Amino acid sequence: MLRLTDRGLFCEAGGFHVDPWGPVERAVVTHAHGDHLAWGCDRYLTSAAGRAIAERRLGAGATVRGVAYGEPVTVNGVRLSLHPAGHILGSAQVRIEHGGEVWVVSGDYKVEPDPTCTPFEPVHCHTFVTESTFGLPVYQWPAQQDVFDAIHAWWRANQAEQRTSLLFGYALGKAQRLLAGLDPSVGPILTHGAVEQMTALYRAEGVPLPPTTYALAASKGNDWKRAIVVAPPGADRTPWARRFGDAATAMASGWMRVRGARRRRGVDRGFTLSDHVDWPGLLQAVAATGASSVWVTHGFTAPVVRWLQEQGLEARAIATRFEGDERAESDVPEPA
Ligand SMILES: [Zn+2]
Repeated sequence: MLRLTDRGLFCEAGGFHVDPWGPVERAVVTHAHGDHLAWGCDRYLTSAAGRAIAERRLGAGATVRGVAYGEPVTVNGVRLSLHPAGHILGSAQVRIEHGGEVWVVSGDYKVEPDPTCTPFEPVHCHTFVTESTFGLPVYQWPAQQDVFDAIHAWWRANQAEQRTSLLFGYALGKAQRLLAGLDPSVGPILTHGAVEQMTALYRAEGVPLPPTTYALAASKGNDWKRAIVVAPPGADRTPWARRFGDAATAMASGWMRVRGARRRRGVDRGFTLSDHVDWPGLLQAVAATGASSVWVTHGFTAPVVRWLQEQGLEARAIATRFEGDERAESDVPEPA
């Protein structure tokens, strides 16, 4: 059904690519992170919920069609549908059916609940294409409430020291999930411009988020000392971040699960919060598809392939250009 070409995963029968990494005629896009959304394709198909974000990132002139989750579309006789992936707003798994065979390409996904997007939906298939960003047993996510409790305790401790709290998370997806979990009664919630842009798109799609203020519009002094500022990791150690003086810094990422990651990142605190599936979630997701064959992409492909083979599944690693390491969950440049 699918084969790997120099532009990415290609469905010959349907004449389309899924998340191509170069310009192609027809692109079916799982979500709008930079490593899954290539510029210059003639036509894009994505979820209705993700359409506005894709259009924003592709710029004017892109032809983007949005379809509702579960709504079948026929492309050259191939039946396509998109199903929630639970990764970020509008993220989708692509179900492809042709000649009695069903494949599902999951893109990036997670099975944890997330108030900012539709939950992951297991889809039955013969072949499942899974990411493996955090495909090692050490990656097991703590309860989200515990993570947010720790973030609030850190924020209050910084307020007591009259220091701004700078919390880094990717501008698209992670930042909005952080915002959704923050308690506005603790203090002002400020945003970096890139975060504010994406947050506006989330609000336009009806995602409930606490009130935020663009950081540079907030008055200097008291506000900043009591505030938490949600910003993309790229803003760390820039003149933008230095405006806040001796701020306390923290990073929210799945990588914070392992010792040393916080230090390498050079932040004061690390909070383990990921928009990717963890090890138990990955195994559970694969099992729920009933697939007998699994293609494993970006991440810890070898351990995941080995584990699946030991369970009697046909599994292989596929070399894609997806990064999924939360570096590619790319940051939108700060508007001038
Ligand atoms: Zn992603």
